[in-house]
Amino acid sequence: MGISIFDIFKVGIGPSSSHTMGPMRAAERFVRNLDELDLHHRVHRVAVQLYGSLALTGKGHCTDTAVILGLEGELPDHIDPERVQERLALIRAQGRIMLGGRRAVAFDEVLDLLFLKDQLLPGHSNALRITAMDDRLEVLLAREYFSIGGGFIVESGKSEDVPLDAREHINFPYPFGSGQELLELCSRHQLPMHEIVRRNEREWRPDKEIDSELNRIWTAMQECVARGLRQEGVLPGSFKVRRRAAPMARHLEAAGMGEPLNAMEWVNVWALAVNEENASGGRVVTAPTNGAAGVIPAVLHFYMSFVPGSDLAGVHRFLLTAGAVGVLYKRKASISGAEMGCQGEVGVACSMAAAGLAAARGGSPEQVENAAEIGMEHNLGLTCDPVGGLVQIPCIERNAMGAVKAINAANLARRGDGIHSVSLDQVIATMRQTGLDMATHYKETSLGGLAVNVPEC
Ligand code: SF4
Repeated sequence: MGISIFDIFKVGIGPSSSHTMGPMRAAERFVRNLDELDLHHRVHRVAVQLYGSLALTGKGHCTDTAVILGLEGELPDHIDPERVQERLALIRAQGRIMLGGRRAVAFDEVLDLLFLKDQLLPGHSNALRITAMDDRLEVLLAREYFSIGGGFIVESGKSEDVPLDAREHINFPYPFGSGQELLELCSRHQLPMHEIVRRNEREWRPDKEIDSELNRIWTAMQECVARGLRQEGVLPGSFKVRRRAAPMARHLEAAGMGEPLNAMEWVNVWALAVNEENASGGRVVTAPTNGAAGVIPAVLHFYMSFVPGSDLAGVHRFLLTAGAVGVLYKRKASISGAEMGCQGEVGVACSMAAAGLAAARGGSPEQVENAAEIGMEHNLGLTCDPVGGLVQIPCIERNAMGAVKAINAANLARRGDGIHSVSLDQVIATMRQTGLDMATHYKETSLGGLAVNVPEC
Protein backbone atom coordinates (compact mmCIF):
# COMPACT_ATOMS: atom_id res chain seq x y z
CA MET A 1 0.00 0.00 0.00
CA GLY A 2 1.41 3.37 -0.93
CA ILE A 3 0.62 6.35 1.22
CA SER A 4 1.70 9.74 -0.04
CA ILE A 5 2.64 12.50 2.38
CA PHE A 6 -0.23 14.40 0.73
CA ASP A 7 -2.58 11.78 2.16
CA ILE A 8 -1.28 12.79 5.58
CA PHE A 9 -1.50 16.56 4.89
CA LYS A 10 -5.00 17.18 3.53
CA VAL A 11 -6.84 20.46 3.36
CA GLY A 12 -10.26 20.08 4.93
CA ILE A 13 -12.62 21.48 7.54
CA GLY A 14 -12.89 21.21 11.29
CA PRO A 15 -13.45 20.11 13.87
CA SER A 16 -12.32 16.49 13.37
CA SER A 17 -10.64 14.47 10.66
CA SER A 18 -12.06 11.16 11.90
CA HIS A 19 -15.50 12.46 12.95
CA THR A 20 -16.07 15.20 10.36
CA MET A 21 -13.87 14.71 7.29
CA GLY A 22 -14.01 10.89 7.23
CA PRO A 23 -17.82 10.64 7.54
CA MET A 24 -18.30 13.40 4.95
CA ARG A 25 -16.07 11.54 2.51
CA ALA A 26 -17.89 8.26 3.26
CA ALA A 27 -21.29 9.83 2.58
CA GLU A 28 -20.04 11.43 -0.64
CA ARG A 29 -18.57 8.10 -1.73
CA PHE A 30 -21.88 6.37 -1.00
CA VAL A 31 -23.70 8.80 -3.29
CA ARG A 32 -21.11 8.23 -6.02
CA ASN A 33 -21.67 4.47 -5.64
CA LEU A 34 -25.39 5.07 -6.18
CA ASP A 35 -24.52 6.86 -9.41
CA GLU A 36 -22.15 4.14 -10.56
CA LEU A 37 -24.86 1.51 -9.98
CA ASP A 38 -27.46 3.69 -11.69
CA LEU A 39 -29.61 3.73 -8.54
CA HIS A 40 -29.57 7.45 -7.82
CA HIS A 41 -32.92 8.18 -9.53
CA ARG A 42 -34.70 5.45 -7.53
CA VAL A 43 -33.67 6.68 -4.06
CA HIS A 44 -36.63 7.72 -1.96
CA ARG A 45 -35.05 7.68 1.49
CA VAL A 46 -31.56 7.59 2.99
CA ALA A 47 -30.87 6.37 6.53
CA VAL A 48 -27.60 6.78 8.42
CA GLN A 49 -26.54 5.03 11.61
CA LEU A 50 -23.51 6.11 13.61
CA TYR A 51 -21.76 3.69 15.96
CA GLY A 52 -19.14 3.72 18.72
CA SER A 53 -17.07 6.85 19.05
CA LEU A 54 -18.84 8.47 16.10
CA ALA A 55 -22.10 8.15 18.03
CA LEU A 56 -20.66 9.09 21.43
CA THR A 57 -18.85 12.24 20.38
CA GLY A 58 -20.43 12.81 16.97
CA LYS A 59 -22.63 15.72 18.09
CA GLY A 60 -19.70 17.70 19.44
CA HIS A 61 -17.53 16.73 16.49
CA CYS A 62 -20.22 17.75 13.92
CA THR A 63 -20.51 14.24 12.43
CA ASP A 64 -24.20 14.88 11.68
CA THR A 65 -23.38 18.00 9.67
CA ALA A 66 -20.60 16.19 7.85
CA VAL A 67 -22.78 13.25 6.82
CA ILE A 68 -25.66 15.43 5.66
CA LEU A 69 -23.41 17.60 3.52
CA GLY A 70 -21.53 14.55 2.25
CA LEU A 71 -24.86 13.13 1.06
CA GLU A 72 -25.30 16.39 -0.83
CA GLY A 73 -22.02 15.60 -2.60
CA GLU A 74 -19.71 17.87 -0.61
CA LEU A 75 -16.09 17.05 0.17
CA PRO A 76 -13.96 18.54 2.98
CA ASP A 77 -11.46 20.20 0.66
CA HIS A 78 -14.08 21.91 -1.52
CA ILE A 79 -16.82 22.88 0.87
CA ASP A 80 -17.08 26.55 1.82
CA PRO A 81 -16.93 26.56 5.66
CA GLU A 82 -18.58 30.00 5.70
CA ARG A 83 -21.78 28.58 4.15
CA VAL A 84 -22.19 25.42 6.20
CA GLN A 85 -24.58 26.82 8.83
CA GLU A 86 -26.78 28.53 6.27
CA ARG A 87 -27.08 25.32 4.23
CA LEU A 88 -27.86 23.24 7.28
CA ALA A 89 -30.59 25.65 8.34
CA LEU A 90 -32.18 25.32 4.88
CA ILE A 91 -31.99 21.49 4.92
CA ARG A 92 -33.57 21.41 8.37
CA ALA A 93 -36.27 23.91 7.47
CA GLN A 94 -37.23 22.06 4.27
CA GLY A 95 -36.80 18.54 5.71
CA ARG A 96 -34.94 17.36 2.64
CA ILE A 97 -31.47 17.00 1.21
CA MET A 98 -30.27 17.40 -2.35
CA LEU A 99 -28.78 13.93 -2.89
CA GLY A 100 -25.51 14.35 -4.75
CA GLY A 101 -26.41 18.03 -5.13
CA ARG A 102 -29.13 17.41 -7.70
CA ARG A 103 -32.12 15.40 -6.45
CA ALA A 104 -34.36 16.33 -3.53
CA VAL A 105 -34.92 13.46 -1.07
CA ALA A 106 -36.92 13.82 2.14
CA PHE A 107 -34.65 13.67 5.18
CA ASP A 108 -35.96 13.68 8.74
CA GLU A 109 -32.84 14.07 10.85
CA VAL A 110 -34.45 12.59 13.97
CA LEU A 111 -35.45 9.39 12.19
CA ASP A 112 -32.87 9.17 9.44
CA LEU A 113 -29.66 9.97 11.32
CA LEU A 114 -29.26 7.83 14.42
CA PHE A 115 -26.54 8.03 17.07
CA LEU A 116 -26.35 4.43 18.36
CA LYS A 117 -24.23 5.18 21.40
CA ASP A 118 -24.33 1.70 22.92
CA GLN A 119 -23.54 -0.18 19.73
CA LEU A 120 -20.31 -0.99 17.92
CA LEU A 121 -19.58 -2.50 14.56
CA PRO A 122 -16.75 -5.02 14.53
CA GLY A 123 -13.67 -3.49 12.95
CA HIS A 124 -13.29 0.02 14.36
CA SER A 125 -14.87 2.32 16.92
CA ASN A 126 -15.64 4.95 14.28
CA ALA A 127 -18.27 3.22 12.15
CA LEU A 128 -21.24 4.33 10.11
CA ARG A 129 -23.80 2.53 7.99
CA ILE A 130 -25.64 4.25 5.16
CA THR A 131 -28.70 2.74 3.50
CA ALA A 132 -30.62 3.96 0.47
CA MET A 133 -34.20 2.79 -0.06
CA ASP A 134 -36.73 3.06 -2.87
CA ASP A 135 -40.33 4.26 -2.62
CA ARG A 136 -41.45 0.91 -1.15
CA LEU A 137 -38.62 1.17 1.43
CA GLU A 138 -36.81 -1.74 -0.19
CA VAL A 139 -33.04 -1.48 0.27
CA LEU A 140 -31.26 -0.35 -2.88
CA LEU A 141 -27.79 -0.07 -1.43
CA ALA A 142 -26.28 -0.43 2.06
CA ARG A 143 -22.66 0.23 2.92
CA GLU A 144 -20.61 0.29 6.12
CA TYR A 145 -17.60 2.54 6.49
CA PHE A 146 -14.93 2.99 9.13
CA SER A 147 -13.32 6.36 9.65
CA ILE A 148 -9.86 5.28 10.73
CA GLY A 149 -8.25 8.63 11.53
CA GLY A 150 -6.74 11.55 9.65
CA GLY A 151 -9.72 11.61 7.24
CA PHE A 152 -8.95 8.14 5.89
CA ILE A 153 -11.93 5.84 5.35
CA VAL A 154 -12.23 2.11 4.83
CA GLU A 155 -15.24 0.35 3.40
CA SER A 156 -16.31 -2.76 5.27
CA GLY A 157 -15.66 -5.95 3.35
CA LYS A 158 -12.83 -4.52 1.30
CA SER A 159 -9.78 -6.72 1.45
CA GLU A 160 -7.31 -6.11 4.27
CA ASP A 161 -8.98 -2.85 5.26
CA VAL A 162 -6.90 -0.96 2.73
CA PRO A 163 -7.78 2.71 2.95
CA LEU A 164 -9.80 3.67 -0.10
CA ASP A 165 -7.55 6.66 -0.52
CA ALA A 166 -4.28 4.78 -0.61
CA ARG A 167 -2.80 3.93 -3.96
CA GLU A 168 -1.97 0.29 -4.30
CA HIS A 169 0.57 -1.20 -6.65
CA ILE A 170 3.07 1.62 -6.32
CA ASN A 171 6.65 0.52 -6.63
CA PHE A 172 8.69 3.04 -4.74
CA PRO A 173 12.31 3.39 -5.80
CA TYR A 174 13.22 3.77 -2.10
CA PRO A 175 10.73 1.58 -0.20
CA PHE A 176 10.77 1.70 3.60
CA GLY A 177 8.44 0.23 6.21
CA SER A 178 10.20 1.34 9.37
CA GLY A 179 12.39 4.08 10.76
CA GLN A 180 15.36 1.72 10.63
CA GLU A 181 14.81 1.01 6.93
CA LEU A 182 14.54 4.71 6.25
CA LEU A 183 17.83 5.33 8.07
CA GLU A 184 19.50 2.53 6.12
CA LEU A 185 18.32 4.05 2.82
CA CYS A 186 19.74 7.43 3.84
CA SER A 187 23.06 5.83 4.71
CA ARG A 188 23.29 3.59 1.63
CA HIS A 189 22.47 6.37 -0.83
CA GLN A 190 24.05 9.19 1.16
CA LEU A 191 20.82 11.14 1.00
CA PRO A 192 18.89 13.10 3.62
CA MET A 193 15.47 11.78 4.61
CA HIS A 194 13.52 14.46 2.80
CA GLU A 195 15.27 13.55 -0.46
CA ILE A 196 14.33 9.86 -0.08
CA VAL A 197 10.73 10.93 0.46
CA ARG A 198 10.79 13.28 -2.51
CA ARG A 199 12.13 10.57 -4.81
CA ASN A 200 9.29 8.26 -3.75
CA GLU A 201 6.71 11.04 -4.22
CA ARG A 202 7.93 11.39 -7.80
CA GLU A 203 6.13 8.10 -8.51
CA TRP A 204 2.92 10.13 -8.26
CA ARG A 205 3.87 13.56 -9.50
CA PRO A 206 6.85 15.46 -10.95
CA ASP A 207 9.05 17.70 -8.79
CA LYS A 208 7.29 20.86 -9.88
CA GLU A 209 3.96 19.51 -8.70
CA ILE A 210 5.45 18.23 -5.45
CA ASP A 211 6.73 21.75 -4.73
CA SER A 212 3.45 23.38 -5.63
CA GLU A 213 1.54 20.93 -3.40
CA LEU A 214 3.97 21.62 -0.53
CA ASN A 215 3.42 25.35 -1.07
CA ARG A 216 -0.34 24.84 -1.12
CA ILE A 217 -0.22 23.01 2.21
CA TRP A 218 2.03 25.67 3.77
CA THR A 219 -0.19 28.46 2.41
CA ALA A 220 -3.31 26.78 3.82
CA MET A 221 -1.59 26.54 7.22
CA GLN A 222 -0.60 30.21 7.12
CA GLU A 223 -4.10 31.27 6.10
CA CYS A 224 -5.54 29.23 8.94
CA VAL A 225 -3.27 30.96 11.47
CA ALA A 226 -4.09 34.38 9.99
CA ARG A 227 -7.84 33.70 10.13
CA GLY A 228 -7.55 32.45 13.70
CA LEU A 229 -5.77 35.67 14.67
CA ARG A 230 -8.61 37.77 13.25
CA GLN A 231 -11.36 36.08 15.25
CA GLU A 232 -12.58 37.07 18.71
CA GLY A 233 -15.38 35.89 20.97
CA VAL A 234 -16.42 32.39 21.98
CA LEU A 235 -16.31 29.05 20.21
CA PRO A 236 -19.45 27.05 19.35
CA GLY A 237 -20.78 24.79 22.10
CA SER A 238 -22.26 25.02 25.56
CA PHE A 239 -18.92 25.64 27.29
CA LYS A 240 -18.53 28.97 25.51
CA VAL A 241 -14.77 28.57 25.40
CA ARG A 242 -13.15 31.94 24.72
CA ARG A 243 -10.85 32.40 21.76
CA ARG A 244 -7.45 33.41 23.11
CA ALA A 245 -5.13 33.55 20.11
CA ALA A 246 -6.01 37.08 18.96
CA PRO A 247 -5.83 38.80 22.38
CA MET A 248 -2.62 36.93 23.21
CA ALA A 249 -1.06 38.05 19.92
CA ARG A 250 -2.01 41.67 20.64
CA HIS A 251 -0.47 41.43 24.08
CA LEU A 252 2.77 39.97 22.68
CA GLU A 253 2.98 42.62 19.98
CA ALA A 254 2.57 45.34 22.61
CA ALA A 255 5.21 43.75 24.84
CA GLY A 256 7.80 43.67 22.03
CA MET A 257 10.47 41.03 21.57
CA GLY A 258 12.33 41.50 24.88
CA GLU A 259 10.68 38.71 26.89
CA PRO A 260 12.99 35.69 27.40
CA LEU A 261 10.42 33.13 26.25
CA ASN A 262 8.91 35.31 23.56
CA ALA A 263 9.33 32.68 20.83
CA MET A 264 7.52 30.04 22.89
CA GLU A 265 4.67 32.45 23.55
CA TRP A 266 4.26 32.99 19.83
CA VAL A 267 4.27 29.22 19.31
CA ASN A 268 1.36 29.05 21.76
CA VAL A 269 -0.48 31.78 19.85
CA TRP A 270 -0.04 30.09 16.46
CA ALA A 271 -1.17 26.69 17.76
CA LEU A 272 -4.21 28.19 19.51
CA ALA A 273 -5.13 30.14 16.36
CA VAL A 274 -5.26 26.95 14.27
CA ASN A 275 -7.16 24.89 16.80
CA GLU A 276 -9.65 27.64 17.50
CA GLU A 277 -10.32 27.73 13.77
CA ASN A 278 -10.65 23.94 13.80
CA ALA A 279 -13.06 24.03 16.74
CA SER A 280 -15.28 26.48 14.89
CA GLY A 281 -15.44 24.31 11.75
CA GLY A 282 -12.96 26.39 9.75
CA ARG A 283 -10.53 25.39 7.01
CA VAL A 284 -7.51 23.47 8.39
CA VAL A 285 -4.88 21.00 7.22
CA THR A 286 -4.82 17.53 8.76
CA ALA A 287 -1.38 17.22 10.32
CA PRO A 288 -1.88 14.32 10.77
CA THR A 289 -5.43 14.92 12.11
CA ASN A 290 -7.68 17.90 12.69
CA GLY A 291 -7.55 17.64 16.48
CA ALA A 292 -3.76 17.89 16.25
CA ALA A 293 -3.74 20.34 13.34
CA GLY A 294 -2.05 23.18 15.26
CA VAL A 295 1.27 21.56 16.19
CA ILE A 296 2.98 21.52 12.78
CA PRO A 297 1.81 24.99 11.62
CA ALA A 298 2.97 26.45 14.97
CA VAL A 299 6.40 24.84 14.69
CA LEU A 300 6.69 25.89 11.04
CA HIS A 301 5.83 29.49 11.98
CA PHE A 302 8.48 29.26 14.70
CA TYR A 303 10.98 28.05 12.09
CA MET A 304 10.18 30.86 9.67
CA SER A 305 10.00 33.59 12.33
CA PHE A 306 12.77 32.72 14.74
CA VAL A 307 15.32 30.45 13.04
CA PRO A 308 18.08 32.40 11.25
CA GLY A 309 18.40 31.48 7.57
CA SER A 310 14.98 29.85 7.37
CA ASP A 311 13.44 29.73 3.90
CA LEU A 312 10.84 28.00 1.75
CA ALA A 313 13.24 25.17 0.92
CA GLY A 314 13.43 24.51 4.68
CA VAL A 315 9.62 24.39 4.84
CA HIS A 316 9.71 21.75 2.09
CA ARG A 317 12.34 19.72 3.97
CA PHE A 318 10.16 20.00 7.08
CA LEU A 319 6.95 18.82 5.42
CA LEU A 320 8.54 15.98 3.45
CA THR A 321 10.25 14.62 6.57
CA ALA A 322 7.29 15.14 8.90
CA GLY A 323 5.04 13.46 6.32
CA ALA A 324 7.28 10.38 6.20
CA VAL A 325 7.15 10.09 9.99
CA GLY A 326 3.36 10.40 9.86
CA VAL A 327 3.20 7.59 7.29
CA LEU A 328 5.26 5.36 9.62
CA TYR A 329 2.81 5.91 12.50
CA LYS A 330 -0.15 5.30 10.23
CA ARG A 331 1.35 2.07 8.91
CA LYS A 332 2.77 0.65 12.14
CA ALA A 333 0.15 1.88 14.63
CA SER A 334 -2.68 4.35 14.03
CA ILE A 335 -3.33 8.09 13.94
CA SER A 336 -6.84 7.72 15.34
CA GLY A 337 -7.72 9.07 18.80
CA ALA A 338 -10.47 6.45 18.94
CA GLU A 339 -7.82 3.73 18.68
CA MET A 340 -4.74 5.21 20.35
CA GLY A 341 -5.98 8.07 22.52
CA CYS A 342 -4.38 11.48 22.06
CA GLN A 343 -0.89 9.99 21.83
CA GLY A 344 -2.03 8.97 18.31
CA GLU A 345 -2.99 12.56 17.44
CA VAL A 346 -1.08 15.27 19.31
CA GLY A 347 1.66 12.75 20.16
CA VAL A 348 2.14 11.86 16.49
CA ALA A 349 1.95 15.52 15.44
CA CYS A 350 4.65 16.34 18.01
CA SER A 351 6.86 13.55 16.71
CA MET A 352 6.33 14.65 13.09
CA ALA A 353 7.01 18.30 13.92
CA ALA A 354 10.17 17.46 15.86
CA ALA A 355 11.52 15.47 12.92
CA GLY A 356 10.46 18.20 10.49
CA LEU A 357 12.18 20.95 12.45
CA ALA A 358 15.36 18.92 12.85
CA ALA A 359 15.39 18.31 9.08
CA ALA A 360 14.63 21.94 8.22
CA ARG A 361 17.58 22.96 10.39
CA GLY A 362 19.92 20.58 8.60
CA GLY A 363 19.97 17.72 11.13
CA SER A 364 21.48 14.39 10.10
CA PRO A 365 19.10 11.46 9.44
CA GLU A 366 20.05 10.03 12.84
CA GLN A 367 19.25 13.33 14.56
CA VAL A 368 15.96 13.58 12.69
CA GLU A 369 15.00 10.04 13.72
CA ASN A 370 16.02 10.85 17.30
CA ALA A 371 13.88 14.01 17.29
CA ALA A 372 10.85 12.03 16.10
CA GLU A 373 11.45 9.46 18.83
CA ILE A 374 11.77 12.06 21.60
CA GLY A 375 8.64 13.81 20.33
CA MET A 376 6.60 10.66 20.94
CA GLU A 377 8.40 9.26 23.99
CA HIS A 378 7.08 12.04 26.18
CA ASN A 379 3.54 11.78 24.90
CA LEU A 380 3.13 8.04 25.54
CA GLY A 381 -0.09 7.27 27.38
CA LEU A 382 -1.76 10.56 26.49
CA THR A 383 -5.51 9.97 26.66
CA CYS A 384 -8.34 11.43 24.60
CA ASP A 385 -11.11 12.80 26.82
CA PRO A 386 -12.68 15.78 25.03
CA VAL A 387 -14.99 17.69 27.36
CA GLY A 388 -18.57 17.80 26.08
CA GLY A 389 -17.47 15.79 23.04
CA LEU A 390 -16.10 19.04 21.59
CA VAL A 391 -12.65 19.34 20.06
CA GLN A 392 -11.82 22.20 22.43
CA ILE A 393 -10.82 21.13 25.96
CA PRO A 394 -8.13 19.79 26.24
CA CYS A 395 -7.45 19.75 22.48
CA ILE A 396 -6.73 23.43 21.79
CA GLU A 397 -4.17 23.95 24.55
CA ARG A 398 -2.77 20.49 23.98
CA ASN A 399 -1.61 21.56 20.54
CA ALA A 400 0.32 24.46 22.09
CA MET A 401 1.93 22.02 24.53
CA GLY A 402 2.71 19.60 21.69
CA ALA A 403 4.32 22.32 19.57
CA VAL A 404 6.58 23.55 22.38
CA LYS A 405 7.54 19.96 23.16
CA ALA A 406 8.37 19.33 19.49
CA ILE A 407 10.76 22.27 19.40
CA ASN A 408 12.49 21.01 22.51
CA ALA A 409 12.67 17.48 21.09
CA ALA A 410 14.34 18.83 17.93
CA ASN A 411 16.77 20.86 20.06
CA LEU A 412 17.68 17.86 22.23
CA ALA A 413 18.28 15.74 19.15
CA ARG A 414 20.31 18.42 17.35
CA ARG A 415 22.61 18.84 20.36
CA GLY A 416 23.38 15.11 20.27
CA ASP A 417 25.23 13.03 17.72
CA GLY A 418 22.24 10.88 16.77
CA ILE A 419 23.23 7.98 19.03
CA HIS A 420 20.40 7.14 21.42
CA SER A 421 18.92 4.23 23.35
CA VAL A 422 15.30 4.18 22.16
CA SER A 423 14.59 3.98 18.44
CA LEU A 424 11.66 5.54 16.60
CA ASP A 425 10.44 2.04 15.73
CA GLN A 426 10.49 1.04 19.39
CA VAL A 427 8.54 4.09 20.46
CA ILE A 428 5.96 3.57 17.68
CA ALA A 429 5.51 -0.05 18.82
CA THR A 430 5.18 1.18 22.42
CA MET A 431 2.56 3.74 21.43
CA ARG A 432 0.58 1.06 19.63
CA GLN A 433 0.72 -1.33 22.57
CA THR A 434 -0.21 1.44 24.99
CA GLY A 435 -3.13 2.37 22.76
CA LEU A 436 -4.36 -1.22 22.66
CA ASP A 437 -4.10 -1.47 26.46
CA MET A 438 -5.84 1.88 27.04
CA ALA A 439 -9.39 1.65 28.38
CA THR A 440 -12.07 2.59 25.84
CA HIS A 441 -13.16 5.42 28.16
CA TYR A 442 -10.01 7.30 27.21
CA LYS A 443 -10.25 6.85 23.46
CA GLU A 444 -12.47 9.61 22.06
CA THR A 445 -15.65 8.48 23.77
CA SER A 446 -15.95 11.31 26.31
CA LEU A 447 -16.75 8.63 28.91
CA GLY A 448 -13.70 9.25 31.10
CA GLY A 449 -11.04 11.70 32.20
CA LEU A 450 -11.72 15.42 31.91
CA ALA A 451 -14.91 14.68 30.01
CA VAL A 452 -16.57 13.31 33.16
CA ASN A 453 -14.83 15.52 35.71
CA VAL A 454 -15.65 18.83 34.03
CA PRO A 455 -19.43 19.03 34.08
CA GLU A 456 -21.40 21.12 31.64
CA CYS A 457 -22.55 24.39 33.24
S1 SF4 B 1 -8.02 14.95 23.15
FE1 SF4 B 1 -6.53 14.75 21.45
S2 SF4 B 1 -7.22 12.92 20.30
FE2 SF4 B 1 -8.92 13.58 21.60
S3 SF4 B 1 -10.19 14.91 20.29
FE3 SF4 B 1 -8.75 16.23 21.42
S4 SF4 B 1 -6.96 16.44 20.07
FE4 SF4 B 1 -8.15 14.69 19.28
